[in-house]
Amino acid sequence: MTTDPSSPLTELLRLPAGPVNLTDLDPAGTPGFRGKKADAPAATEALAPELSDLQERLYAVGRTTEDRAPKILVVLQGMDTSGKGGAIRHAIGLVDPQGVRIKAFKAPTDEELEHDFLWRIEREVPGPGMIGIFDRSHYEDVLVVRVNGLVPEKVWQSRYDEINAFEQRLVDDGTVIIKCFLHISSAEQKERLLARLEDPSKHWKYNPGDVDVRGQWDDYQAAYADALGRCSTQHAPWYVIPSDRKWYRSWAVAQLLAEHLRTLDLEWPVADFDVEVEKARVAGS
Ligand code: AMP
Ligand code: MG
Repeated sequence: MTTDPSSPLTELLRLPAGPVNLTDLDPAGTPGFRGKKADAPAATEALAPELSDLQERLYAVGRTTEDRAPKILVVLQGMDTSGKGGAIRHAIGLVDPQGVRIKAFKAPTDEELEHDFLWRIEREVPGPGMIGIFDRSHYEDVLVVRVNGLVPEKVWQSRYDEINAFEQRLVDDGTVIIKCFLHISSAEQKERLLARLEDPSKHWKYNPGDVDVRGQWDDYQAAYADALGRCSTQHAPWYVIPSDRKWYRSWAVAQLLAEHLRTLDLEWPVADFDVEVEKARVAGS
C-alpha cells in the first residue's frame, strides 16, 4: 500500500488565483491518491507517527523560542455536512491534542457584533508552536453574511481585501495558513442530511434550518466562488478538497498538514543548560 500522493497535494489541490467556477471542480475526485478506497483509512493512519513527531517539534520550538516560533492555522470551510467535524476527528486527531486549539465560529454574539468582523477572529489565532483549527472562520463574513444580506453589499465587498491583508499580517508574523474548502455536491449533501435523519444518534447534528440553507445552494456556491477566487493569494492560497468521499477528504487534510509541517524544517531545540552537568546533578540527587 502506498501512502504518498502521486504529487504534493499543495500542488494538486491549490487553487490558482483568479475567477473560480466551482462546477469545474469535481467534488468526487481523488487527486493524488494512488491506492484503493479500502486503503485510505490505513494511509491516513500511517501519517500519524510523522505528524505527531512534527507537531511535537513545533510545540517544543514554541516553548523555547516563543515569538519567533512558527504557528499553523488550518481554516475549514464548507457547506453543512461537508465534513469539517470529520476532518478534525480523523486528520487533526492524529496529533497530540495539547498542541492543538480548535475554535468553532457560530453566529456572532451581541458583543462580537459590536466590533469589526475580524475582532473575534484575531483573538483565536494560534500562538507560537500551536496548531489552530478554525471550524468556520472569518470567511463566514463573506458567505452567510453576503447570502443573507446581513450587512450592506458595500460592507461585505470590502472584506475580501481586508481578509487578504489580515492573512498577510498573520503570515508576516510566522503563521502558515492552510485554508481548506471541503467541496461537496448538492446530491451528496442531500444523502448526508437524510442519513442524519435516519439515525437517531445523528439527530443532534441535524438542524431544520439546514434545509433552508440548502435552498440557497446556488447563492452559497457563488459566494464561495468569489471568496475562494478573491482570497486565494500567494501567501495564503485556498486548497479545494473534493469531499464527496469522506475517506479522501480525511486523507487529504492530513496529507496537507504533513506537507506544510515538513517545509518548516523543525529541529529539536538545543538545551540551554549543560547536559553533562545536569546528568551528574541528577545522578547525585
Ligand atoms: P454549525 O457550524 O453547523 O454549528 O453552524 C454554525 C452557524 O453559525 C452556521 O449557520 C453559520 O452560518 C453561522 N455563522 C458562523 N459565522 C457567522 C457569521 N459571521 N455571521 C453569521 N452567521 C455565522
Ligand atoms: Mg450544522
